[in-house]
Amino acid sequence: MIIVLKENYNSKQLDNLKQWLTNQGVRIHESYGVHQAILGLVGDTTHIDIDLLKALEIVEDVKRIQEPYKNANRKFHPLDTVVDINGVKIGGGHFQIIAGPCSVESEAQIMEVAQAVKAAGATLLRGGAFKPRTSPYAFQGLRQDGIKLLLEAKRLTGLPVVTEIMDISQLEAFEEIDVIQVGARNMQNFELLKKLSTLHKPVLLKRGLASTIQELLMSAEYIMSGGNTQVILCERGIRTFETATRNTLDISAVPVLKGLSHLPVLIDPSHATGVAKLVPSMALAATAAGCDGLIIEVHNDPPRALSDGPQSLLPEVFAGLVRKINRVRTAICETAEKRG
Ligand code: PEP
Ligand code: MN
Repeated sequence: MIIVLKENYNSKQLDNLKQWLTNQGVRIHESYGVHQAILGLVGDTTHIDIDLLKALEIVEDVKRIQEPYKNANRKFHPLDTVVDINGVKIGGGHFQIIAGPCSVESEAQIMEVAQAVKAAGATLLRGGAFKPRTSPYAFQGLRQDGIKLLLEAKRLTGLPVVTEIMDISQLEAFEEIDVIQVGARNMQNFELLKKLSTLHKPVLLKRGLASTIQELLMSAEYIMSGGNTQVILCERGIRTFETATRNTLDISAVPVLKGLSHLPVLIDPSHATGVAKLVPSMALAATAAGCDGLIIEVHNDPPRALSDGPQSLLPEVFAGLVRKINRVRTAICETAEKRG
């Protein structure tokens, strides 16, 4: 349920209303825009009398929210959420490019790639330490040592770092990590999501391989329900009947998610396609569709990569792509300005 307040409400009346709502056993999510103040109610609102609320002097309107996600809902929070990663902002017009290898493999590899992606214009560094692999015989990541190397690369370049957590037991190792990634395979690991909801650290939540948009938003809701508002959504391709690409990139997820939610939306064209030569066109299309950023795999020696080499870009190819992404960004921003 949301309560839209009249423009000229006074704070005494607002305090009384909030006290009354709290006594009803609901939690209040407050959103103050330039022209509109909204109180979003989370919890069981079935016993709350809408007519009684509507009759209050400071209330403009009261609406029930049909969707099961509340905190993640744009109706609760009409303005875009801006996730601030130690000064690097995503959302609300701030666009960022996260780049780096699928896996951290060695000190030399992560240092070289980190410096190359930074020089090319990436603003955050990615690198997997705990790797979810289909085969138990495939490279599983350097684990704690991988985190250490990633943090060294952070110190060297100044880039904030993004890496994936696979299990709650690994959380201690993530203390200095700037953004915790929840991968596609863990999107519905509800115990993990509940734990992450207690942190005040940005979470990059990837869409599951066969998950609907609503399921993705419900997983975001899990993280937000405990008070962590710093959630970034990521579309990374979904499982369809198509086999020409590793997954099928659902670009429409960008406008759909941005309509339903205020959270920033990223696209991962690397896992979506699985093929390096398809990554640039999908990255540009996603940028044109209005995403808030991209996460792209880059490797200094893709044929020898320990994971996801076929979809990894060489640093020089990535650098050329960043230039094109910037041109698309300029073009769509100009179009938006002209339309007024
Ligand atoms: C990754 O980012 O390396 C990864 C494993 O991604 P996803 O969860 O999207 O497959
Ligand atoms: Mn990968």
